[in-house]
Amino acid sequence: MTDDWSHRKNPAALMFGTVLDASPDALLAIAADGSITMANAAAGRMFGYASGDLAGRDHRTLLAEGFRGEVAQLLARLLAGPREHLPPREIYGVRRDGTEFPAEAAGSLVPGSDDVVPAVPLLLLSVRGTSHRQDADADLREAMSLLTATLESTADGILVMSSAGHVAGFNDQFLSMWGIPPELMAGDSEEPVMELVMAQIADPVAFTARLAELADSPSAESHDVVDLTDGRTFERYSRPQRVGNDVVGRVWSFRDVTPRRKAQEQAHQAMVDLAAQAEKLRTMAFQDPLTGLANRAVFNDALAGSVEEPRLKTVDVLLLDLDDFKEVNDILGHQAGDEMLIEVSRRLRGCAPTADVVARLGGDEFVVLLTACPDADAIAECIVRCLNVPVTIQGTVLRPSLSLGLASMARDNVGASELLRQADIAMYAAKAAGKNRFLRFHPDMMTALVQRTYMEGGLQLAVARSEISVDFQPIVSHRMDQVVTFEALARWDCDGTRVPPSVFIPLAERTGLINEIGAEVMARGMAELAPWLSRDPSRSLAVNVSGVQLQDPGFAQTVLGLAEAKGVAAYQLVLEVTESVFFDADCTLIKQLSTLRDAGARVALDDFGTGYSSLGRLQDLPVDTVKIDRTFVSMVHTGNERLPILSSMINMAHSLGLTVTAEGVETAAQADYLTALECDTLQGYLFSLPQPGPRLEQALQHAEEALNALKGR
Ligand code: C2E
Ligand code: CA
Ligand code: CA
Repeated sequence: MTDDWSHRKNPAALMFGTVLDASPDALLAIAADGSITMANAAAGRMFGYASGDLAGRDHRTLLAEGFRGEVAQLLARLLAGPREHLPPREIYGVRRDGTEFPAEAAGSLVPGSDDVVPAVPLLLLSVRGTSHRQDADADLREAMSLLTATLESTADGILVMSSAGHVAGFNDQFLSMWGIPPELMAGDSEEPVMELVMAQIADPVAFTARLAELADSPSAESHDVVDLTDGRTFERYSRPQRVGNDVVGRVWSFRDVTPRRKAQEQAHQAMVDLAAQAEKLRTMAFQDPLTGLANRAVFNDALAGSVEEPRLKTVDVLLLDLDDFKEVNDILGHQAGDEMLIEVSRRLRGCAPTADVVARLGGDEFVVLLTACPDADAIAECIVRCLNVPVTIQGTVLRPSLSLGLASMARDNVGASELLRQADIAMYAAKAAGKNRFLRFHPDMMTALVQRTYMEGGLQLAVARSEISVDFQPIVSHRMDQVVTFEALARWDCDGTRVPPSVFIPLAERTGLINEIGAEVMARGMAELAPWLSRDPSRSLAVNVSGVQLQDPGFAQTVLGLAEAKGVAAYQLVLEVTESVFFDADCTLIKQLSTLRDAGARVALDDFGTGYSSLGRLQDLPVDTVKIDRTFVSMVHTGNERLPILSSMINMAHSLGLTVTAEGVETAAQADYLTALECDTLQGYLFSLPQPGPRLEQALQHAEEALNALKGR
């Protein structure tokens, strides 16, 4: 403190000086002439003067230019209204070194000093520096600009609503996200903004409900997803705006997550697709794609599992194969074949609803696995019966038939593969026994199999060992009253036993040996019959030819060459083929038959009426004769029955310019019946059994006797 107070050495004055010096504000006592009569320590520090240097100076030297009249004005105001409270004045002070600083100045009159002595203090002026306050203002401005910049640069749309429901703030992104024109925000009412927002929300009812919930709990935070009518998706986040502990409003922030959602959807879709694909691959691995039945792999697994399961008392394998399925495919096409397989699968499932597995092993082969089934035979029986019910496929009525082999595991028995093999053997036996049936495996069938294997080896050597011979069966013309043709029929004597053609011919066809055997029959037939043929050019030799042989592009030439070598005219040859050779007739086959027919040979359609043939097809086939199968002939018992099938077959063939031979004529009644229908030629035991070459005369004689007997009736 300046010595203005202290030098009085008065204790009260001393005390007063100490108090003044303790003030952080600069305190100056100013006399009427403007001179400083007293200054405290803070004043010295503020203005940069040593203690005592301020007293006596004009106070105006402490004020910056432009502020030097402030104190005089203040004084004037105070004098005009001493009781009036005046707010501090903003001034700039000047330090001793000339630097300026902002400050606030307030003053009060010193009581009892309104005399005219200039040196007596009149006004007590307090000055407070405000530099620190300006720093704070700058900080605030900076913080504000940072906040604004941040708000504007964020991708989120932000809206701040006051608790009273007024818009307190928002950013540009908020406007552009919701498509709100800025002038709408400038308006007095929030209503149009809310309307615009609500109109874009896909589920405004739910949204309003959530708003209401939040209105009830102002301090709650909430987060959800809002779908918009235009397909966009916003993530909404809302939290209270607080000042201190008070909630004064609510901050809403919206984020457009449409691209993210779309990416998520795409990813999800990709996952779904992938799963579906995996599922498809999985079913493909276990399912037959055509019929939807299980496949071989599934069956093998199930069979292996069942055989090893000790608690299972019975395991039955029903292996089945459609009869003559190839013909359905060949005549009606693969589409029809597929339909037939699907229908068969459907029936199979129906017959064996309790089956462990119903599988398609491939082609027309199916298998049914039964475990703990009380009566597998009954199921096998049912399958054979149900499958044989006619079905219409592509306009044609078909009667599926199948051969089924049944093998069962007795308690201490065989493994899985052996069980399947037994079923296979039984199925094979069912086919051999005439098809359309089931057979249960029996060890004897093994013997048959061994024999078959043995037989195949034997058949390979049959031609070389001269075991193949030919029998001849006469075919008579009732009109001409004589034998007109001999059919050559192959015979095989294997180790002294005669093997029936129904056994070795199919085997020869399967193994391809039929080419060699067929050529042998043809050569022997021609050689043995040449003398008989040479005596009358109207006589002929019929030879059976299988489809396998016709696949050989050199077949026709071989036959014609052979005929020439044996001295047999080509027009004296009849080649008997079954309808099945035409099913998958390719040009090779047709060409062989055409070449032979061009050379004068004739073609006969053997076993006509069996298989899947229809009369309608006849006109398309390159044949000269049909041989009505003996099953039709055997329908004639008394000769008095009406058999329109026979008459229509014969009439149809005749109308196409074909001749007709009836096979298997065993009785005079049958011969009469067929003659009455104008059947051209007859063949059968009634006239003669097939006879070997050396017994040709006997055969001829027997046939003539039979013809005479018929005439005498
Ligand atoms: P297929 O061509 O229909 O021959 C007629 C079959 O009927 C012969 O049987 C014959 O013995 C038999 N048969 C003739 N008349 C009667 C009768 O009145 N009643 C009965 N129940 N049967 C009669 P086979 O000799 O056992 O021949 C069976 C089949 O073997 C033949 O049927 C033919 O398809 C085939 N075959 C025979 N030899 C050959 C051949 O050299 N080549 C080819 N590819 N197949 C042949
Ligand atoms: Ca024949
Ligand atoms: Ca025949």
